[in-house]
Amino acid sequence: MGKSSLPFRRKDLYHALGRVRCPGIKKILNAKMKERCHRMPGYFDLKLILISVLLSAALSGCISPEEPPAAVSQNDSASPSDRIKVAATIAPLADMVKAVGKDRVDVTVVVPPGAEPHTFEPTPSLMVKLSQADLYVMNGAGLEFWMDQLLQSNGNLKVVDSSLGIELLQEDGKETNPHIWLSLRNAAIQVKYICSGLSDLDPDSRDYYIQNRDDYLRKLHALDEELNGSFSNVSTPVFLVHHPAWSYFARDYSLQQIPLLVEEKEPGPRYLSQVIDLAREKNITTVFVEPQFNPKTAEVIAREMSARLISLDPLAPDYLENMRYAGREIAQSMLSTAPG
Ligand SMILES: [Zn+2]
Repeated sequence: MGKSSLPFRRKDLYHALGRVRCPGIKKILNAKMKERCHRMPGYFDLKLILISVLLSAALSGCISPEEPPAAVSQNDSASPSDRIKVAATIAPLADMVKAVGKDRVDVTVVVPPGAEPHTFEPTPSLMVKLSQADLYVMNGAGLEFWMDQLLQSNGNLKVVDSSLGIELLQEDGKETNPHIWLSLRNAAIQVKYICSGLSDLDPDSRDYYIQNRDDYLRKLHALDEELNGSFSNVSTPVFLVHHPAWSYFARDYSLQQIPLLVEEKEPGPRYLSQVIDLAREKNITTVFVEPQFNPKTAEVIAREMSARLISLDPLAPDYLENMRYAGREIAQSMLSTAPG
């Protein structure tokens, strides 16, 4: 396999690392980056690095029970040896890869169900497994802070950064919000990158991938129209979420997302009382929580406001179905907040 010709901005990835913003993760990332910079052996040869990764995998006990079950494989009709081995960081991206590649791909989800992608880092043994993939589909926008480490164990790994060309949102004007996939319009761009990545690897099936991509783009577009319609007549387009995962979604439909977690940490009482006042003023009756986060703060707020808690999972594996569900729930919460 030759050098990657696929879009991957190594420099930009570094740049993005400085701007990642998700509550509670920045300190961890900075610590990890510092550690990584000390470890980064730019002058070592790849073989040596691979050996050291293998060795550390062996030493750390690669089949320890704590290791998350990372591989979620898909088995369709094509013979397994012919399939393109694709690794995707999160389940929604893996779902898009399956939609385009269908029976010609074998997809591994890197961040296992229930894990928090902002702090998740592959174990050494998973790094080795991932380095054997034919194609890696990144979310980008700073989510994969460990990507350089993976590339050290396989300099030839083909990588698609699906965030290229997507207009990134900053929180407080400085930190990149990585939750790009929670916008159907962004997903359309991500699917195009996935299609070109697969077509580059398997040019004989290019038409097949393009047809699947176009089918999927039509579904994305139809759902986008549907959600657009459902938000067009809400009276109070404001919703309360746990952490700011839905910024791109909110932008698409001109909604206002109010996160409970701010400044990368649990909020102080002053901010919380402001949120409660605003929620009362807007008659907000729902607080959206996520399975990856401790719901304690949200529970306190919900009790204070006599609001109900509804779980939205940004990482659910059936992407379209999950977006439809999220759209319906968010719109529903706004319909029941009619002022009066
Ligand atoms: Zn997040």
